[in-house]
Amino acid sequence: MLIVKKFGGSSVANKERIFNVARRCVEDYKKGHDVVVVLSAMGKTTDELIAMAKNINPNASKRELDMLLTTGEQVSVSLMAMAMQAMDVSAVSLNAFQVAMNCTSRYGNARFKRIDSERIMNELDARKIVIVTGFQGINKYGDYATLGRGGSDTTAVALAAALHADKCEIYTDVDGVFTADPRVVSDARKIEEITYDEMLELATSGAKVLHSRSVELAKKYGVQMVVRSSLNESEGTTVKEVVKMEKMLVTGVASDKNTARISVLGVEDKPGIAFKVFQKLAKNSINIDIILQSVGRDGSKDISFTVAEDDLEEAINVLEENKEALTIKEIKHNARVAKVAIVGAGMMSNPGVASQMFEALYNSNININMISTSEIRITVLIDEKDVDRAVQAIHEKFALGEV
Ligand code: ASP
Ligand code: MG
Repeated sequence: MLIVKKFGGSSVANKERIFNVARRCVEDYKKGHDVVVVLSAMGKTTDELIAMAKNINPNASKRELDMLLTTGEQVSVSLMAMAMQAMDVSAVSLNAFQVAMNCTSRYGNARFKRIDSERIMNELDARKIVIVTGFQGINKYGDYATLGRGGSDTTAVALAAALHADKCEIYTDVDGVFTADPRVVSDARKIEEITYDEMLELATSGAKVLHSRSVELAKKYGVQMVVRSSLNESEGTTVKEVVKMEKMLVTGVASDKNTARISVLGVEDKPGIAFKVFQKLAKNSINIDIILQSVGRDGSKDISFTVAEDDLEEAINVLEENKEALTIKEIKHNARVAKVAIVGAGMMSNPGVASQMFEALYNSNININMISTSEIRITVLIDEKDVDRAVQAIHEKFALGEV
């Protein structure tokens, strides 16, 4: 069996943890399996590297930032190989160049294009454990580019697909995917099985446990993922296409404070305005989430939408620069908002789920700013200060803590 095992930063944060991971990998190796290990940077290394860069130059170029950030993973993979060698197991660490993991050119947010399997296969044939740097690829300029924060999950799934692995295990410091963030909701429950679509909606709604791109890739290539703890033997959560039917309407609730609302007021009520506003933002790679347009009155209307808080400044600049062309009278923004979303395949065929969610918020005296839905998700935009209370009230309302 060929197994890809990915370990997050906290799982390799120190010597003891590194040997713990080495031991878990060697166990599978000694059973005769081929083992490919993907690692993140140790502990808070990536955050520290970002802080170092900011300290030198707050406007550091994205190329140099990626050059710096990719060193974090290179430290953890080489130390891991040394740990395994200390246990008399042959192991080799490889970075994105050595494997040849090709990605798109965008620094800080690259996507894999093609991964060579030859080098890894040769090393596995030589009975080595292969340890690969997560989070990085090589772009067409021959530079390192990173995949976005949390991107090592995506490296693991991409490798599992490229190598036709039998298993892809994502090890982290929690027991799996939960019905809500256990730090916020004390009776949050571990989910046994979840569909790709539900997991994708949760990940894009702020659940940090998996990089959303990794779930997209897993769905595309049919890679079954297991999310489990590196610190115990608990079974974890399986992410796959079809799961056994649960009676639950709602599978989980997620929240995201990294959200800001922008309103453009008084734009002309005629065809093409929304198109031009969002085209300008798209050209600057600004992702839009929830959109709300008011009913036109006296020939003008308002459009509100949300963006990631990190993109707020740039979005405002783009709109200000094009204010006249876009017929905008006034631009307003608010960064102190957050999204709360419920996700569940069960809501597709059951009416009344939205009203139950809104009732939970009403009973907690929480005001809703905006609403957006997909077939299996309902998202509301609320005040940032109400987020934890909202998540708790919704979790309770749908009895998500009960099996
Ligand atoms: N080290 C990177 C980060 O902290 C990638 C990862 O951990 O997946 O975002
Ligand atoms: Mg992660």
